[in-house]
Amino acid sequence: MEIRANHELCEGNAVCVGLAPKVFDLSDDDQVVILQADPPEEQLDRVRKAIDRCPKAALSLHE
Ligand code: SF4
Repeated sequence: MEIRANHELCEGNAVCVGLAPKVFDLSDDDQVVILQADPPEEQLDRVRKAIDRCPKAALSLHE
């Protein structure tokens, strides 16, 4: 699994950080930072929710 972020789309609203704070963070310039690109099993529900709810559709999960 690999989480990818499209930085041209991310607007730094931190929805993903709120849903999965162990996996996502924000940089000082308000861009998503992926802390665990290959997240552990127990984080996957949160990760999928964050991907679904990102208002800019900036996140994706690849097998
Ligand atoms: S929810 Fe989407 S737009 Fe918001 S910080 Fe995360 S990746 Fe960026």
